[in-house]
Amino acid sequence: MFKKILVANRGEIALRIQRACSELGVRAVMVYSEADRDAKYIKLAQEAVCIGPAPSSESYLSMYAIISAAEVTDVEAIHPGYGFLSENADFAERVEKSGFEFIGPTPDSIRTMGDKVAAKQAMLKAGVPCVPGSEGQLSDDPVVNKRIAKAIGYPVIIKAAGGGGGRGMRVVHTEAALANAIQMTKAEAQAAFNNPAVYMEKYLQNPRHIEIQVLADKYGNAVYLGERDCSMQRRHQKVIEESPAPGIARKLIEKIGDRCAAACKRIGYRGAGTFEFLYENGEFYFIEMNTRVQVEHPVTELTSGIDIVNMQLRIAAGEKLPFTQRQIQVHGHAIECRVNAENPYTFIPSPGRITTWHPPGGPGVRVDSHAYTNYFVPPNYDSMIGKIITHGDTREQALARMRTALNEMVVEGIHTNLPLHRELLADARFIEGSTNIHYLEAWLAAHPR
Ligand code: ADP
Repeated sequence: MFKKILVANRGEIALRIQRACSELGVRAVMVYSEADRDAKYIKLAQEAVCIGPAPSSESYLSMYAIISAAEVTDVEAIHPGYGFLSENADFAERVEKSGFEFIGPTPDSIRTMGDKVAAKQAMLKAGVPCVPGSEGQLSDDPVVNKRIAKAIGYPVIIKAAGGGGGRGMRVVHTEAALANAIQMTKAEAQAAFNNPAVYMEKYLQNPRHIEIQVLADKYGNAVYLGERDCSMQRRHQKVIEESPAPGIARKLIEKIGDRCAAACKRIGYRGAGTFEFLYENGEFYFIEMNTRVQVEHPVTELTSGIDIVNMQLRIAAGEKLPFTQRQIQVHGHAIECRVNAENPYTFIPSPGRITTWHPPGGPGVRVDSHAYTNYFVPPNYDSMIGKIITHGDTREQALARMRTALNEMVVEGIHTNLPLHRELLADARFIEGSTNIHYLEAWLAAHPR
Protein backbone atom coordinates (compact mmCIF):
# COMPACT_ATOMS: atom_id res chain seq x y z
CA MET A 1 0.00 0.00 0.00
CA PHE A 2 1.04 3.58 -0.57
CA LYS A 3 2.52 5.48 2.35
CA LYS A 4 1.38 8.88 1.15
CA ILE A 5 -0.98 10.17 -1.54
CA LEU A 6 -2.35 13.51 -2.71
CA VAL A 7 -6.12 14.08 -2.72
CA ALA A 8 -6.65 16.38 -5.70
CA ASN A 9 -10.21 17.43 -4.98
CA ARG A 10 -12.44 19.25 -2.53
CA GLY A 11 -15.68 18.94 -0.60
CA GLU A 12 -17.35 15.71 0.40
CA ILE A 13 -15.32 13.51 -1.95
CA ALA A 14 -12.04 14.89 -0.57
CA LEU A 15 -13.23 13.96 2.92
CA ARG A 16 -14.40 10.55 1.67
CA ILE A 17 -10.94 9.80 0.24
CA GLN A 18 -9.27 11.15 3.37
CA ARG A 19 -11.33 8.70 5.45
CA ALA A 20 -10.42 5.77 3.18
CA CYS A 21 -6.73 6.69 3.49
CA SER A 22 -6.94 6.94 7.26
CA GLU A 23 -8.46 3.47 7.46
CA LEU A 24 -5.64 2.04 5.33
CA GLY A 25 -2.93 3.88 7.23
CA VAL A 26 -2.10 6.02 4.20
CA ARG A 27 -1.04 9.61 4.82
CA ALA A 28 -3.41 11.82 2.82
CA VAL A 29 -2.09 15.19 1.68
CA MET A 30 -5.06 17.48 1.08
CA VAL A 31 -5.11 20.43 -1.33
CA TYR A 32 -7.25 23.54 -1.01
CA SER A 33 -8.01 26.77 -2.77
CA GLU A 34 -8.15 30.00 -0.80
CA ALA A 35 -11.95 29.59 -0.65
CA ASP A 36 -11.61 26.22 1.11
CA ARG A 37 -8.97 27.18 3.66
CA ASP A 38 -11.34 26.65 6.61
CA ALA A 39 -12.76 23.29 5.52
CA LYS A 40 -12.75 20.79 8.38
CA TYR A 41 -10.93 18.13 6.40
CA ILE A 42 -8.11 20.64 5.91
CA LYS A 43 -7.92 21.20 9.65
CA LEU A 44 -7.98 17.41 10.17
CA ALA A 45 -5.29 16.81 7.57
CA GLN A 46 -1.84 15.65 8.55
CA GLU A 47 -0.61 17.77 5.66
CA ALA A 48 -2.33 20.30 3.38
CA VAL A 49 -1.20 22.52 0.51
CA CYS A 50 -2.82 25.69 -0.81
CA ILE A 51 -2.95 25.37 -4.60
CA GLY A 52 -4.27 28.77 -5.57
CA PRO A 53 -7.14 31.23 -5.49
CA ALA A 54 -10.85 30.37 -5.42
CA PRO A 55 -11.59 30.03 -9.18
CA SER A 56 -11.18 26.35 -10.04
CA SER A 57 -9.34 27.21 -13.25
CA GLU A 58 -6.53 28.53 -11.04
CA SER A 59 -6.65 25.79 -8.40
CA TYR A 60 -8.50 22.46 -8.69
CA LEU A 61 -8.28 22.53 -12.49
CA SER A 62 -4.65 23.63 -12.61
CA MET A 63 -2.52 20.60 -13.54
CA TYR A 64 0.57 22.60 -12.77
CA ALA A 65 -0.61 23.52 -9.25
CA ILE A 66 -1.65 19.96 -8.43
CA ILE A 67 1.49 18.28 -9.74
CA SER A 68 3.65 20.87 -7.97
CA ALA A 69 1.80 20.10 -4.72
CA ALA A 70 2.50 16.39 -5.26
CA GLU A 71 6.18 17.11 -5.86
CA VAL A 72 6.59 19.40 -2.88
CA THR A 73 4.97 16.89 -0.52
CA ASP A 74 6.67 13.88 -2.09
CA VAL A 75 3.59 11.66 -2.44
CA GLU A 76 3.49 8.38 -4.36
CA ALA A 77 0.08 8.71 -5.98
CA ILE A 78 -2.73 11.15 -6.81
CA HIS A 79 -6.45 10.49 -6.31
CA PRO A 80 -8.46 12.79 -8.58
CA GLY A 81 -11.94 12.23 -7.02
CA TYR A 82 -14.76 13.14 -9.41
CA GLY A 83 -15.24 16.24 -11.57
CA PHE A 84 -12.31 18.65 -12.02
CA LEU A 85 -9.35 16.74 -13.56
CA SER A 86 -10.63 13.23 -12.85
CA GLU A 87 -11.50 12.41 -16.47
CA ASN A 88 -8.76 14.43 -18.12
CA ALA A 89 -6.47 12.02 -19.98
CA ASP A 90 -3.74 14.67 -20.38
CA PHE A 91 -3.70 15.14 -16.63
CA ALA A 92 -3.45 11.38 -15.97
CA GLU A 93 -0.57 11.26 -18.46
CA ARG A 94 1.23 14.16 -16.81
CA VAL A 95 0.75 12.57 -13.41
CA GLU A 96 2.39 9.37 -14.66
CA LYS A 97 5.17 11.19 -16.53
CA SER A 98 5.96 13.08 -13.32
CA GLY A 99 6.52 9.74 -11.62
CA PHE A 100 3.28 9.43 -9.63
CA GLU A 101 0.67 6.70 -9.78
CA PHE A 102 -2.67 7.97 -11.08
CA ILE A 103 -5.44 6.40 -8.97
CA GLY A 104 -7.68 5.52 -11.87
CA PRO A 105 -7.51 3.89 -15.30
CA THR A 106 -4.75 4.40 -17.85
CA PRO A 107 -4.65 7.68 -19.81
CA ASP A 108 -5.57 5.66 -22.93
CA SER A 109 -8.76 4.29 -21.32
CA ILE A 110 -9.72 7.78 -20.14
CA ARG A 111 -9.10 9.20 -23.62
CA THR A 112 -11.16 6.55 -25.38
CA MET A 113 -14.08 6.83 -22.96
CA GLY A 114 -13.91 10.63 -22.96
CA ASP A 115 -14.71 10.60 -26.68
CA LYS A 116 -18.24 9.23 -26.76
CA VAL A 117 -17.96 8.17 -30.40
CA ALA A 118 -14.78 6.19 -29.67
CA ALA A 119 -16.35 4.82 -26.48
CA LYS A 120 -19.40 3.51 -28.33
CA GLN A 121 -17.21 1.92 -30.98
CA ALA A 122 -15.10 0.22 -28.30
CA MET A 123 -18.25 -1.02 -26.54
CA LEU A 124 -19.84 -2.37 -29.72
CA LYS A 125 -16.64 -4.32 -30.35
CA ALA A 126 -16.70 -5.61 -26.78
CA GLY A 127 -20.28 -6.85 -27.16
CA VAL A 128 -21.99 -4.16 -25.07
CA PRO A 129 -25.36 -3.09 -26.58
CA CYS A 130 -25.50 0.60 -27.60
CA VAL A 131 -28.24 3.05 -28.57
CA PRO A 132 -28.76 2.69 -32.35
CA GLY A 133 -27.10 5.61 -34.08
CA SER A 134 -24.56 6.95 -36.56
CA GLU A 135 -21.50 4.77 -36.92
CA GLY A 136 -19.11 7.56 -36.12
CA GLN A 137 -19.16 11.33 -36.04
CA LEU A 138 -21.44 13.14 -38.46
CA SER A 139 -20.13 14.75 -41.64
CA ASP A 140 -21.25 18.10 -43.02
CA ASP A 141 -23.22 16.42 -45.81
CA PRO A 142 -26.94 17.06 -45.17
CA VAL A 143 -28.01 14.36 -47.61
CA VAL A 144 -25.96 11.70 -45.81
CA ASN A 145 -27.16 12.94 -42.41
CA LYS A 146 -30.79 12.79 -43.49
CA ARG A 147 -30.26 9.25 -44.67
CA ILE A 148 -28.74 8.26 -41.31
CA ALA A 149 -31.61 9.87 -39.38
CA LYS A 150 -34.19 8.17 -41.58
CA ALA A 151 -32.57 4.79 -41.01
CA ILE A 152 -32.53 5.34 -37.21
CA GLY A 153 -36.04 6.81 -37.20
CA TYR A 154 -37.18 10.12 -35.66
CA PRO A 155 -36.92 11.47 -33.04
CA VAL A 156 -33.13 11.45 -32.98
CA ILE A 157 -30.71 13.16 -30.60
CA ILE A 158 -27.55 14.98 -31.72
CA LYS A 159 -24.82 14.67 -29.10
CA ALA A 160 -21.35 16.17 -28.73
CA ALA A 161 -18.58 13.53 -28.81
CA GLY A 162 -16.74 15.48 -26.11
CA GLY A 163 -19.88 16.36 -24.13
CA GLY A 164 -20.48 15.97 -20.42
CA GLY A 165 -22.55 17.22 -17.52
CA GLY A 166 -25.76 16.92 -19.51
CA ARG A 167 -24.68 19.58 -21.99
CA GLY A 168 -24.24 19.46 -25.77
CA MET A 169 -27.38 17.51 -26.72
CA ARG A 170 -30.31 18.38 -28.99
CA VAL A 171 -33.42 16.36 -29.82
CA VAL A 172 -34.68 16.52 -33.43
CA HIS A 173 -38.22 15.47 -34.31
CA THR A 174 -38.40 16.21 -38.04
CA GLU A 175 -36.19 16.05 -41.11
CA ALA A 176 -36.77 19.78 -41.71
CA ALA A 177 -35.05 20.62 -38.40
CA LEU A 178 -32.11 18.25 -38.81
CA ALA A 179 -29.42 20.22 -40.65
CA ASN A 180 -29.85 23.29 -38.48
CA ALA A 181 -29.78 21.26 -35.26
CA ILE A 182 -26.53 19.58 -36.30
CA GLN A 183 -24.93 22.95 -37.10
CA MET A 184 -26.02 24.43 -33.78
CA THR A 185 -24.86 21.47 -31.69
CA LYS A 186 -21.51 21.52 -33.50
CA ALA A 187 -21.02 25.21 -32.78
CA GLU A 188 -21.95 24.71 -29.12
CA ALA A 189 -19.70 21.67 -28.82
CA GLN A 190 -16.78 23.65 -30.23
CA ALA A 191 -17.40 26.50 -27.79
CA ALA A 192 -18.01 24.31 -24.71
CA PHE A 193 -15.70 21.32 -25.26
CA ASN A 194 -13.26 22.61 -27.86
CA ASN A 195 -14.30 19.71 -30.09
CA PRO A 196 -16.94 20.19 -32.80
CA ALA A 197 -17.51 16.46 -33.40
CA VAL A 198 -21.14 15.35 -32.99
CA TYR A 199 -22.94 12.05 -33.49
CA MET A 200 -26.52 10.90 -33.81
CA GLU A 201 -28.56 8.47 -31.71
CA LYS A 202 -32.11 7.28 -31.58
CA TYR A 203 -33.88 9.42 -29.00
CA LEU A 204 -35.43 6.98 -26.56
CA GLN A 205 -38.78 8.33 -25.42
CA ASN A 206 -39.19 7.04 -21.86
CA PRO A 207 -36.05 5.26 -20.75
CA ARG A 208 -34.70 4.73 -17.27
CA HIS A 209 -31.08 5.55 -16.44
CA ILE A 210 -29.46 2.37 -15.12
CA GLU A 211 -25.73 2.10 -14.54
CA ILE A 212 -23.36 -0.73 -13.67
CA GLN A 213 -20.49 -0.25 -11.21
CA VAL A 214 -17.33 -2.16 -12.08
CA LEU A 215 -13.96 -2.78 -10.46
CA ALA A 216 -10.97 -4.10 -12.38
CA ASP A 217 -7.41 -4.78 -11.27
CA LYS A 218 -4.13 -4.58 -13.19
CA TYR A 219 -4.06 -8.34 -13.82
CA GLY A 220 -7.08 -8.75 -16.06
CA ASN A 221 -9.65 -9.46 -13.34
CA ALA A 222 -12.92 -7.54 -13.42
CA VAL A 223 -16.22 -7.71 -11.54
CA TYR A 224 -19.45 -5.72 -11.41
CA LEU A 225 -20.99 -4.66 -8.10
CA GLY A 226 -24.58 -4.43 -9.24
CA GLU A 227 -26.57 -1.58 -10.71
CA ARG A 228 -27.88 1.84 -9.73
CA ASP A 229 -31.10 3.44 -10.89
CA CYS A 230 -30.44 7.15 -11.44
CA SER A 231 -33.61 8.06 -13.33
CA MET A 232 -34.62 10.87 -10.96
CA GLN A 233 -32.91 13.70 -12.85
CA ARG A 234 -33.33 17.39 -13.40
CA ARG A 235 -31.62 18.85 -16.46
CA HIS A 236 -29.80 15.52 -16.95
CA GLN A 237 -28.37 15.86 -13.43
CA LYS A 238 -29.04 13.09 -10.93
CA VAL A 239 -31.02 14.01 -7.80
CA ILE A 240 -31.88 10.63 -6.19
CA GLU A 241 -30.17 7.29 -6.84
CA GLU A 242 -30.89 3.80 -5.61
CA SER A 243 -29.81 0.19 -5.80
CA PRO A 244 -31.08 -2.32 -6.82
CA ALA A 245 -33.14 -0.86 -9.67
CA PRO A 246 -36.80 -1.55 -8.82
CA GLY A 247 -38.59 -4.02 -11.06
CA ILE A 248 -35.70 -5.21 -13.22
CA ALA A 249 -35.14 -8.97 -13.19
CA ARG A 250 -31.85 -10.08 -11.59
CA LYS A 251 -31.18 -12.25 -14.63
CA LEU A 252 -31.14 -9.18 -16.88
CA ILE A 253 -28.81 -7.31 -14.52
CA GLU A 254 -26.49 -10.30 -14.34
CA LYS A 255 -26.39 -10.55 -18.12
CA ILE A 256 -25.50 -6.90 -18.66
CA GLY A 257 -23.17 -6.90 -15.64
CA ASP A 258 -21.25 -9.83 -17.09
CA ARG A 259 -20.97 -7.99 -20.40
CA CYS A 260 -19.54 -4.94 -18.61
CA ALA A 261 -16.99 -7.00 -16.68
CA ALA A 262 -16.01 -8.77 -19.91
CA ALA A 263 -15.66 -5.41 -21.67
CA CYS A 264 -13.30 -4.22 -18.90
CA LYS A 265 -11.07 -7.22 -19.50
CA ARG A 266 -11.18 -6.68 -23.22
CA ILE A 267 -10.23 -3.01 -23.14
CA GLY A 268 -7.67 -3.45 -20.35
CA TYR A 269 -9.64 -1.31 -17.95
CA ARG A 270 -8.41 -0.90 -14.39
CA GLY A 271 -9.81 0.76 -11.29
CA ALA A 272 -13.40 1.74 -10.56
CA GLY A 273 -15.70 2.65 -13.41
CA THR A 274 -19.34 2.98 -14.37
CA PHE A 275 -21.13 1.88 -17.52
CA GLU A 276 -24.15 4.12 -18.03
CA PHE A 277 -27.16 2.73 -19.87
CA LEU A 278 -30.60 3.80 -20.90
CA TYR A 279 -33.08 1.02 -20.24
CA GLU A 280 -36.32 0.73 -22.16
CA ASN A 281 -38.68 -2.19 -22.85
CA GLY A 282 -36.36 -4.70 -21.24
CA GLU A 283 -33.28 -3.64 -23.24
CA PHE A 284 -30.08 -1.89 -22.14
CA TYR A 285 -28.42 0.70 -24.38
CA PHE A 286 -24.93 1.94 -23.47
CA ILE A 287 -24.56 5.73 -23.50
CA GLU A 288 -21.22 6.38 -21.85
CA MET A 289 -18.61 5.21 -19.39
CA ASN A 290 -17.38 7.23 -16.40
CA THR A 291 -13.77 6.41 -15.64
CA ARG A 292 -13.80 7.56 -12.01
CA VAL A 293 -15.59 7.20 -8.69
CA GLN A 294 -19.11 8.61 -8.90
CA VAL A 295 -21.13 10.76 -6.53
CA GLU A 296 -23.64 7.93 -6.08
CA HIS A 297 -21.07 5.22 -5.25
CA PRO A 298 -22.29 4.85 -1.61
CA VAL A 299 -25.55 3.11 -2.56
CA THR A 300 -23.47 0.33 -4.11
CA GLU A 301 -21.15 0.24 -1.08
CA LEU A 302 -24.13 -0.31 1.22
CA THR A 303 -25.70 -3.06 -0.89
CA SER A 304 -22.48 -4.87 -1.84
CA GLY A 305 -20.57 -4.32 1.40
CA ILE A 306 -17.54 -3.32 -0.70
CA ASP A 307 -15.72 -0.05 -0.02
CA ILE A 308 -15.16 1.34 -3.52
CA VAL A 309 -12.66 4.06 -2.59
CA ASN A 310 -10.65 1.57 -0.53
CA MET A 311 -10.61 -0.70 -3.59
CA GLN A 312 -9.46 2.15 -5.84
CA LEU A 313 -6.43 2.67 -3.60
CA ARG A 314 -5.65 -1.03 -3.37
CA ILE A 315 -5.96 -1.59 -7.12
CA ALA A 316 -3.70 1.39 -7.86
CA ALA A 317 -1.17 0.06 -5.35
CA GLY A 318 -1.05 -3.17 -7.34
CA GLU A 319 -3.29 -5.48 -5.30
CA LYS A 320 -5.40 -8.13 -6.96
CA LEU A 321 -9.16 -8.03 -6.61
CA PRO A 322 -9.77 -9.88 -3.32
CA PHE A 323 -13.07 -11.43 -4.47
CA THR A 324 -14.58 -13.17 -7.47
CA GLN A 325 -17.91 -12.34 -9.07
CA ARG A 326 -19.60 -15.23 -7.27
CA GLN A 327 -18.56 -13.87 -3.88
CA ILE A 328 -20.31 -10.55 -4.51
CA GLN A 329 -23.85 -10.40 -3.20
CA VAL A 330 -26.54 -7.79 -2.97
CA HIS A 331 -27.89 -7.10 0.51
CA GLY A 332 -31.11 -5.16 0.88
CA HIS A 333 -31.74 -1.80 -0.72
CA ALA A 334 -30.01 1.59 -0.57
CA ILE A 335 -31.09 5.06 -1.63
CA GLU A 336 -29.24 8.37 -1.83
CA CYS A 337 -30.52 11.95 -1.78
CA ARG A 338 -28.09 14.62 -2.92
CA VAL A 339 -28.22 17.65 -0.65
CA ASN A 340 -27.65 20.83 -2.63
CA ALA A 341 -27.20 24.38 -1.39
CA GLU A 342 -29.94 25.78 -3.57
CA ASN A 343 -33.43 27.16 -3.39
CA PRO A 344 -35.74 24.11 -3.55
CA TYR A 345 -38.24 25.98 -5.72
CA THR A 346 -36.15 28.09 -8.07
CA PHE A 347 -32.95 25.98 -7.96
CA ILE A 348 -30.90 29.15 -7.64
CA PRO A 349 -27.65 28.31 -5.80
CA SER A 350 -27.59 29.40 -2.16
CA PRO A 351 -24.00 29.72 -0.96
CA GLY A 352 -23.22 31.30 2.41
CA ARG A 353 -22.73 30.49 6.06
CA ILE A 354 -24.48 27.47 7.56
CA THR A 355 -25.67 28.57 11.00
CA THR A 356 -27.12 25.17 11.99
CA TRP A 357 -26.09 21.79 10.62
CA HIS A 358 -27.87 18.94 12.29
CA PRO A 359 -27.36 15.72 10.33
CA PRO A 360 -29.54 12.65 10.90
CA GLY A 361 -28.35 9.31 12.29
CA GLY A 362 -29.59 5.94 13.46
CA PRO A 363 -29.64 2.46 11.93
CA GLY A 364 -28.96 2.31 8.21
CA VAL A 365 -28.27 6.04 7.85
CA ARG A 366 -25.05 7.39 6.37
CA VAL A 367 -24.24 11.05 5.76
CA ASP A 368 -21.30 11.92 3.52
CA SER A 369 -20.67 15.62 3.88
CA HIS A 370 -17.88 18.04 4.63
CA ALA A 371 -20.35 20.61 6.01
CA TYR A 372 -20.84 21.58 9.68
CA THR A 373 -22.31 24.37 11.76
CA ASN A 374 -20.55 27.63 10.88
CA TYR A 375 -19.19 26.20 7.59
CA PHE A 376 -19.23 28.74 4.77
CA VAL A 377 -20.41 27.27 1.44
CA PRO A 378 -18.25 29.06 -1.14
CA PRO A 379 -20.04 30.37 -4.23
CA ASN A 380 -17.29 29.15 -6.55
CA TYR A 381 -18.12 25.46 -6.88
CA ASP A 382 -20.85 22.91 -7.40
CA SER A 383 -23.82 23.39 -5.07
CA MET A 384 -23.80 19.82 -3.72
CA ILE A 385 -22.84 19.94 -0.04
CA GLY A 386 -23.49 16.36 0.95
CA LYS A 387 -25.43 13.16 0.54
CA ILE A 388 -27.79 11.24 2.78
CA ILE A 389 -27.75 7.52 2.10
CA THR A 390 -30.04 5.02 3.79
CA HIS A 391 -29.99 1.25 3.70
CA GLY A 392 -32.64 -1.29 4.67
CA ASP A 393 -33.51 -4.94 4.22
CA THR A 394 -36.16 -3.88 1.70
CA ARG A 395 -36.83 -0.83 -0.47
CA GLU A 396 -39.72 0.08 1.85
CA GLN A 397 -37.37 0.12 4.83
CA ALA A 398 -34.74 2.17 3.00
CA LEU A 399 -37.44 4.67 1.99
CA ALA A 400 -38.85 4.81 5.55
CA ARG A 401 -35.37 5.44 6.93
CA MET A 402 -34.79 8.16 4.34
CA ARG A 403 -38.06 9.87 5.33
CA THR A 404 -37.01 9.77 8.99
CA ALA A 405 -33.54 11.07 8.13
CA LEU A 406 -34.90 13.91 5.98
CA ASN A 407 -37.27 14.95 8.76
CA GLU A 408 -34.48 14.89 11.31
CA MET A 409 -32.03 16.90 9.28
CA VAL A 410 -31.87 20.65 9.97
CA VAL A 411 -29.81 23.07 7.90
CA GLU A 412 -30.13 26.78 8.63
CA GLY A 413 -28.49 29.89 7.20
CA ILE A 414 -28.68 28.76 3.58
CA HIS A 415 -31.37 27.21 1.40
CA THR A 416 -31.16 23.51 0.60
CA ASN A 417 -33.21 21.13 -1.53
CA LEU A 418 -34.24 19.11 1.56
CA PRO A 419 -37.91 20.26 1.23
CA LEU A 420 -37.94 18.91 -2.35
CA HIS A 421 -36.57 15.55 -1.20
CA ARG A 422 -39.23 15.37 1.55
CA GLU A 423 -41.95 15.88 -1.06
CA LEU A 424 -40.47 13.36 -3.48
CA LEU A 425 -40.18 10.72 -0.77
CA ALA A 426 -43.93 11.10 -0.21
CA ASP A 427 -44.81 10.89 -3.90
CA ALA A 428 -46.92 7.82 -4.67
CA ARG A 429 -45.44 7.20 -8.11
CA PHE A 430 -41.85 7.42 -6.84
CA ILE A 431 -42.69 5.13 -3.93
CA GLU A 432 -44.02 2.61 -6.45
CA GLY A 433 -40.59 2.62 -8.17
CA SER A 434 -39.36 2.39 -11.79
CA THR A 435 -39.82 6.04 -12.79
CA ASN A 436 -38.19 7.18 -16.04
CA ILE A 437 -35.72 9.98 -16.74
CA HIS A 438 -38.51 12.51 -17.46
CA TYR A 439 -40.46 11.85 -14.29
CA LEU A 440 -38.89 14.48 -12.04
CA GLU A 441 -39.12 17.29 -14.62
CA ALA A 442 -42.76 16.40 -15.29
CA TRP A 443 -43.41 16.29 -11.54
CA LEU A 444 -41.82 19.73 -11.10
CA ALA A 445 -43.94 21.12 -13.94
CA ALA A 446 -47.07 19.67 -12.31
CA HIS A 447 -46.13 21.12 -8.90
CA PRO A 448 -45.57 24.81 -9.72
CA ARG A 449 -43.93 26.76 -6.97
P1 ADP B 1 -23.45 13.46 -20.08
O1 ADP B 1 -22.07 12.94 -20.28
O2 ADP B 1 -23.58 14.89 -20.43
O3 ADP B 1 -24.02 13.10 -18.73
P2 ADP B 1 -24.97 11.25 -21.30
O4 ADP B 1 -24.65 10.66 -22.62
O5 ADP B 1 -24.60 10.43 -20.09
O6 ADP B 1 -24.34 12.72 -21.20
O7 ADP B 1 -26.51 11.56 -21.21
C1 ADP B 1 -27.06 12.25 -20.11
C2 ADP B 1 -28.56 12.09 -20.06
O8 ADP B 1 -29.15 12.56 -21.29
C3 ADP B 1 -29.06 10.66 -19.92
O9 ADP B 1 -29.09 10.21 -18.57
C4 ADP B 1 -30.46 10.80 -20.51
O10 ADP B 1 -31.30 11.44 -19.54
C5 ADP B 1 -30.27 11.77 -21.66
N1 ADP B 1 -29.97 11.06 -22.96
C6 ADP B 1 -28.74 10.84 -23.50
N2 ADP B 1 -28.83 10.12 -24.66
C7 ADP B 1 -30.14 9.88 -24.86
C8 ADP B 1 -30.90 9.17 -25.89
N3 ADP B 1 -30.31 8.57 -26.92
N4 ADP B 1 -32.26 9.13 -25.74
C9 ADP B 1 -32.87 9.72 -24.68
N5 ADP B 1 -32.23 10.40 -23.70
C10 ADP B 1 -30.88 10.48 -23.78
